[in-house]
Amino acid sequence: MHSVKSACCYCGVGCGVVIDAEADRIVGVRGDPEHPANHGRLCTKGQTLHLTGGRTGRLLRPEVRMGRGEPRRRASWDATLDHLAERFARIIREHGPDAVAFYLSGQLLTEDYYAFNKLARALVGTNNIDSNSRLCMSSAVAGYRATLGADGPPGCYEDIEHADCILIAGSNAAWAHPVLFRRIEDAKRARPDVRVIVIDPRRTATAEFADQHLAILPGTDVALFNGMLHVLMWDEMTDTAFIGAHTEGYAALKATVREYTPKFVAELCGIGEDEIIAAARSFGRAKSVLSLYCMGLNQSSHGTDKNAALINLHLATGQIARPGAGPFSLTGQPNAMGGREVGAMANVLVAHRDPSSDSDRAELAGLWGIESLSGRPGRTAVEMFEAMRSGEIKAVWIACTNPAQSLPAQSNVRAGLERAELVVLQEAFSTTETVRYADVLLPATTWGEKEGTATNSERRITRVRAAVPAPGEARADWQIATDFARRLETQLKPGRSTLFAFDSPREIFDEYRALTRNRDTDITGLSYALLDERGSQQWPLPEGIETGRARLYTDFRFATPSRRARFVNTAYCAVAEKPDARYPFRLTTGRLRDQWHGMSRTGRVARLFGHTPEPRVALHPSDLARRSLQPGDLVHVDSRRGRVTLAAESSEELRPGQAFLPMHWGSRFLSGAGALGINAVTLPVLDSASRQPELKHCAVRIGRAALPWRLVAFGYPADGDALALIESMQPLLERFPFASCVPVGRDREGVVLRAAAESPVEAALIAAVDELLALTRTGTLRYDDSRRGIGRRVRLANGRIEAARLSGETPAEGWLKELFEQQLAAGELGRFLLLPGARPPAGVAPRGRVVCNCLNVGETEIAALARRCSGPPDAIFAELQSALRCGTECGSCVPEIRRIAAGARRLQAERTDSPEQQGLSPAAEALPARRDSPVAMPRRESRAAQ
Ligand code: SF4
Repeated sequence: MHSVKSACCYCGVGCGVVIDAEADRIVGVRGDPEHPANHGRLCTKGQTLHLTGGRTGRLLRPEVRMGRGEPRRRASWDATLDHLAERFARIIREHGPDAVAFYLSGQLLTEDYYAFNKLARALVGTNNIDSNSRLCMSSAVAGYRATLGADGPPGCYEDIEHADCILIAGSNAAWAHPVLFRRIEDAKRARPDVRVIVIDPRRTATAEFADQHLAILPGTDVALFNGMLHVLMWDEMTDTAFIGAHTEGYAALKATVREYTPKFVAELCGIGEDEIIAAARSFGRAKSVLSLYCMGLNQSSHGTDKNAALINLHLATGQIARPGAGPFSLTGQPNAMGGREVGAMANVLVAHRDPSSDSDRAELAGLWGIESLSGRPGRTAVEMFEAMRSGEIKAVWIACTNPAQSLPAQSNVRAGLERAELVVLQEAFSTTETVRYADVLLPATTWGEKEGTATNSERRITRVRAAVPAPGEARADWQIATDFARRLETQLKPGRSTLFAFDSPREIFDEYRALTRNRDTDITGLSYALLDERGSQQWPLPEGIETGRARLYTDFRFATPSRRARFVNTAYCAVAEKPDARYPFRLTTGRLRDQWHGMSRTGRVARLFGHTPEPRVALHPSDLARRSLQPGDLVHVDSRRGRVTLAAESSEELRPGQAFLPMHWGSRFLSGAGALGINAVTLPVLDSASRQPELKHCAVRIGRAALPWRLVAFGYPADGDALALIESMQPLLERFPFASCVPVGRDREGVVLRAAAESPVEAALIAAVDELLALTRTGTLRYDDSRRGIGRRVRLANGRIEAARLSGETPAEGWLKELFEQQLAAGELGRFLLLPGARPPAGVAPRGRVVCNCLNVGETEIAALARRCSGPPDAIFAELQSALRCGTECGSCVPEIRRIAAGARRLQAERTDSPEQQGLSPAAEALPARRDSPVAMPRRESRAAQ
């Protein structure tokens, strides 16, 4: 056993971790108590990182497809890279350097990014290099550049402890950045007067925690910020001395903002005038205001203006560059910041140099020892795939990202992937949606196997270390890029000495570090040795300085030519796609608590599905009622671009007329004929400055899916490999009009498949499902009514359900699945297990979703106990924690436990009689049965009970 310090590879909080490994296997992960980003804490995702290992679903060898329609075949690394160098060289010679493109990821390490960046710009001669950070952070980049003159959050996490007012805009930090949110909770606990304001169309867990929640209509943020500034001006709460000494452009903004009266803004935003005034006054009165913001501002066709309008508020009040004050964008990815620093986005060169600047290009070309760099604008993410669709880009190299899941308007993206002559995919996992489009697959190492550095949201650079060797023939991303680059050099620049003489990530880091000298990102004082010795450091850290700088612009000299911060004259523009009679719903997208991005990694951990076990679209109860829909009914969500079919759920977090889809569900888990995942419907309209698409919002219509025939099947795989079972089910899923297939379980991992069709599907398809779940074995309980298209199978082992399939009618699914998932004794129930519509046996109560994932505590347990508790909310919460231990580990579930407890108490207070007097089943009030609880046979009650 050995332990290695590294960083979590999910969100931009950038938590330090300690990886425990045995030989070539990662066996555990812990929060690093010495890391300043998390002080030992991890959220549910970080805590389960060690469960994402294993060889199932990993790419382990290169594969090459030699011709259209042919299968990919295994090949050696040498043959594969030679083949690629030849094909890239030919395309570049025939069509020019802009006929190729590189599409990277915020999950790559800084050294990986640098290698690709140098390959694209210095060798190929194109600026067609972009990253999936374009989908999450490019509006924040553009917002900082427009106002402060350079990209980079001016503050640090410690500001949370210093702020008197914390404004959270367009961020469900409680779910998306949980460890940081724990810090906000701690700050509020320590200083209850700290005012937390949340701006979000939904009443999220973060909004629930806030002192004030502004539930604005989607996309109206600029109007709100302008309205708040109007109030601050009117109330003379602006800092005129700061404005006069350190800013420019205020007069023009002032003239614009004059029109944004509370009344006008209230109408635009759909909130009350008093709410706007109250928020502005909280902002204006606080000694220090920290604004935290994320995708809600960025993923918009006016994302840059949204960022700038919020920064305007900080500049107008002088709330910047001192403890507890400043605008602070949260990054979605672990190293989106690193990509921004080394220039892995089309419009950024190394160390924040500008590819449109002749002098920046000339300087960098000189440092790299080449003649020149291209000044032609590069294609950004969405544009890149459009150019593939139009045939302008012939070859694309995709690394560590999954565009066939994550980009908007999936039908266009996939058309681009199909049209391209050559699609190279450098990936760790063989299960992502993009794999099927790859002509060449290059197996890459991933978390726990890689060396390098990553920068988190607060500009903190952390060493990322390998705990185990690369599996199979997988190689580090930087290594693949540089090996390919050397081969391409011999084709394009024969005789020239190589630009890629790197043998380790340390050598790449050292070269990159030298290019930051005298830039805003200067890290000439940083080295691997220093990171190893003193731990993570924030940039800038120039030579001669001991530690990184916690805050930027503390002398109030900004990175603009005048050294003054700039007000941007932001006017409100409506969302790119307004609801209308045909598409009346405002759809917003966002994150689930326990999933991350396209689920290529979190989708490998069954327990992370316990909190949200199936893809659902959330609608307000009144919208469900108006359409005669029940929670769980299948609906079509249609936009002008495509359709996604999934179950509906009821949510009072939304207003009527709004819908919410989690961003994670791609066509791997949300399947069926022609399924493209949730990004089938999203909008590819771009912000004019940041080129970020409006992934957050579009107009849709929602209607019942006429798919009355249902199938539900679940089972534990004989070899214990649920991921492998899901993969073998994939070809079957595509034969149903709707299907979803997810892993379930904790100590034992199984699979749940749900499918639907207009009428009974062919018997062979059902038989194939049965075969995969071993429901064809002797001893399986069977019931068939072929006339009505009904069939049931249940297989028991040691008196517990191993697998089951219900087709045609699925009303018994609920309690059968509870028996299965809770592994309750079911042997005595015998053929009762086949009865449709039978009441659940006594002692079988639904657990609901798993709220506390660390300690496996379900919603029903929490609600049942809360109903029996009394006292103030904090006392009830303490009692729940002490009795069930829920929320005592990572804390990600704390907001939800409080919410469930409050709801349960409200319900209890509304009751005048005891549950028995209300005629409720005692089972509904009981705590769910534990694994070995006896399950009692119910009375016979239906005609089929024979
Ligand atoms: Fe990882 Fe969670 Fe920390 Fe984000 S908050 S870095 S997902 S452990």
